[in-house]
Amino acid sequence: MVGMTDVVIPLADLRYQAPVPLVPALLTAPTGLISDRLGRPLRDLRISVTDRCNFRCSYCMPKEVFDNQYKFLPQSSLLSFEEITRCASLFAAHGVHKLRLTGGEPLLRKHLEVLIAQLAALRTPEGQALDITLTTNGSLLKRQAQALRDAGLRRVTVSLDALDDGTFRQMNDVNFPVADVLDGIEAAIAAGLAPVKVNMVVKRGTNDDQIVPLARHMRQHYGPKVILRFIEYMDVGATNGWRMNEVLPSAAVRERLNQAFELQPMPANTVGETAERWAYADGLGEVGFISSVTKAFCGDCNRARLSTEGKLFLCLFASRGHDLRALLRGGYSDEQISTAIGLIWGGREDRYSELRSAGGAPAASGERRVEMHYIGG
Ligand code: SAM
Repeated sequence: MVGMTDVVIPLADLRYQAPVPLVPALLTAPTGLISDRLGRPLRDLRISVTDRCNFRCSYCMPKEVFDNQYKFLPQSSLLSFEEITRCASLFAAHGVHKLRLTGGEPLLRKHLEVLIAQLAALRTPEGQALDITLTTNGSLLKRQAQALRDAGLRRVTVSLDALDDGTFRQMNDVNFPVADVLDGIEAAIAAGLAPVKVNMVVKRGTNDDQIVPLARHMRQHYGPKVILRFIEYMDVGATNGWRMNEVLPSAAVRERLNQAFELQPMPANTVGETAERWAYADGLGEVGFISSVTKAFCGDCNRARLSTEGKLFLCLFASRGHDLRALLRGGYSDEQISTAIGLIWGGREDRYSELRSAGGAPAASGERRVEMHYIGG
């Protein structure tokens, strides 16, 4: 029975709702360049390899919801490494150049280096290897960095929300020490994965006092080998109790940094890049700002997301995916699945963040958004 004081956070289980994509009789070969309804190409595929995580950050997987009663996906639901690789090769044929493995915590998936080696063997239509990267909380990175690099991982992004051990332990909510994540970052650099991106989600009133200390630490210890990026706390999923007054806009973060270090704007590396780049004027590297709330970047969003159980999502804020696993396990040919993927991307018109900025969102559909650990951050 639920008492008056218990917190009940409704969690819509969207994991089993996803239409099976249409496979037309007339098949079309991929051209290596495909655009959605708003003219956006498909370049980047994020793959969630597990819905499990060993952290319980309140903004992502709050303990009250993801407790020991919570039913994570059974192993048989997860895409196998072979299924993931098959999917990735079909996406590469449509123009995907970059793969990001995420989760959940991707390093919890056993033998991830085997998957990375399989993905590293794929080629774009122009014959290039794909850019393979990984987002991790860093807790298991020290042990795995070299094997991941040897298997073909090119880069890594480590999430780290504070330098202060107490604040960090409180934010990950499993009492995990900051020193171990810092060791993971060092191991990644030593394995040849520099520059390592470090992502800090800034929550006003929780860790905004860590902005300058974390920047100072990264500059002093690693210089250009680490790129620290500040992410605005987002209203993803349905469980984190997001409130706008806990968002510290990137402009305010930059102002605080500017008081400690002089910053200069830098040009973007690539179209569709999520972070705005600024360099330290003294040459000790750069920082990035990901303004997902205050400055929507849907206009050039070229990312698709493959969930842990093989559902294709076209937006981080989507409520429904497309069940590619049903095709992968349903005896369909590569040509059939490729045509289906082309149709799905061709019909895409998601631009949640822009609509929200314009006051038109959330969820015109009235549906609950999918959780980030499942869809892949
Ligand atoms: N476990 C891995 C990690 O910690 O990096 C990968 C998955 S995690 C969902 C990916 C990224 O999403 C992390 O950098 C995390 O901080 C970020 N994230 C999760 N919830 C968020 C939210 N509500 N707002 C902004 N970023 C969020």
